[in-house]
Amino acid sequence: MTPETMNHDPHATEASWTRVRGELRRSLGNDAFKNWIDPLVFRGAGEGVVAFEVPTSFIGTWVERNYGDTIRHLFERDGVSVGRLEFGVGTRPPAFARAPEQMAANEAARPSRPAASAAQVEGELPQAPLDSRFTFDNFVVGKPNELAYSAARRVAEGGPVSFNPLFLYGGVGLGKTHLMHAIAWEVRLTNPEARVLYLSAEQFMNRFITALRCKDIHTFKELFRSVDMLMVDDVQFIAGKDSTQDEFFHTFNALVDQSKQIVISADRAPGEIDGLEERIKSRLAWGLVVDLHPTDYELRLGILQSKAELQAELNPGIVIGPGVIEFLAHRINSNVRVLEGALTRLFAFASLVGREITLDMAQECLADILRASERKVTIDEIIRKVADHYNIRMTDILSARRARSVARPRQVAMYLAKSLTSRSLPEIGRRFGGRDHTTVIHAVRKIEELKRTDAQMAEDVELLRRMLEA
Ligand code: ADP
Ligand code: MG
Repeated sequence: MTPETMNHDPHATEASWTRVRGELRRSLGNDAFKNWIDPLVFRGAGEGVVAFEVPTSFIGTWVERNYGDTIRHLFERDGVSVGRLEFGVGTRPPAFARAPEQMAANEAARPSRPAASAAQVEGELPQAPLDSRFTFDNFVVGKPNELAYSAARRVAEGGPVSFNPLFLYGGVGLGKTHLMHAIAWEVRLTNPEARVLYLSAEQFMNRFITALRCKDIHTFKELFRSVDMLMVDDVQFIAGKDSTQDEFFHTFNALVDQSKQIVISADRAPGEIDGLEERIKSRLAWGLVVDLHPTDYELRLGILQSKAELQAELNPGIVIGPGVIEFLAHRINSNVRVLEGALTRLFAFASLVGREITLDMAQECLADILRASERKVTIDEIIRKVADHYNIRMTDILSARRARSVARPRQVAMYLAKSLTSRSLPEIGRRFGGRDHTTVIHAVRKIEELKRTDAQMAEDVELLRRMLEA
């Protein structure tokens, strides 16, 4: 590589990285992208080196081994010559930035290239691709999602439309898209003639805007009104987008009038989506509204077991050691997507180093994920739980009352605040009705002592701690 072909403008390279990322998302698919490319933070470029910050050195190694050539090639295509990718953990400056004099010496213009335009003109059903893994069979059912699952099943069975629309809502990564795809797959299988249209609200809007621009709103309307089932994912996206909402409302009404099934998802309940017209909110709430609750330990365990089996099939010979699944289910309490990502990464790492997946490996390899999902207990929660447990009011705990029935629970709450949060003693004192930090010290010592001498106290404290950390 000659100096002329090198690119040294970090801003141009960063813009280029944005385009390369786009390409990678398309070619790797969402999951691989989320697992490996999303965690990369662009740090800078110079001397033919592009530097990224990574959460763990493992991710850097993996990306280099599996996608290094692709990434360099994509940069190349974008007009940026990259000799080497550098991955650093934490805040270590990239190599070229450690020798700043050299950077300025080799200034070279970047041959510019327009970003590829995403032209999309099709006549057929503008179906968004369905993920082949998102089927009912692959959906693990537990308490938090059983209602949503049953409703989705019922809709997929067809027959008389009993609730229209079906409105699924819940936090990110809890399975809304999975259930919608599962409905589409099922209907395709049992009723191949049915015209099922699944798309995101964003795609709905893009289509609508394209139709407006091409003065072809008639075709647009016909298309959407001719389907047997319409599924619109992440409808919160059209909040605040007035003309799109309007069109959506008309489409919606036209289909409901023809008794066509509609399935909608959002990250919130209809009434809670700001920027959505009232008439649409009430229309959306007409049918059946079901929410997917955050996962509980049992569901996480079930999901991990089922995904681990799939992974084991894909990676023959890799053994997952005792306690690892339980450890993950216990420690990663965010959404299912994160859980999956963790497992994928573990299997990838194990196959790379040819070792069994152990607890130690999981802890090291998933340090960033584990840190991110560490449960943060608040003092408010502690006070609430303790008050509940001892059957007193939260205000009693904050009050000046000295009766044993109130004072002891107050000390327990202070002890828990000290051991479960990172608040300082004076801060804890303030939060407990403006008490002095010495009062907090006294409480902590008292409870430590009682835990040793009083079995009931030891049990109470342990129970509360576990509830708060769950
Ligand atoms: P959402 O649309 O609610 O943000 P997704 O449907 O995209 O979430 O789910 C995120 C990931 O988690 C997907 O890979 C999906 O297959 C998986 N997933 C979610 N819930 C379950 C479940 N109950 N059983 C199996 N996989 C699940
Ligand atoms: Mg989704």
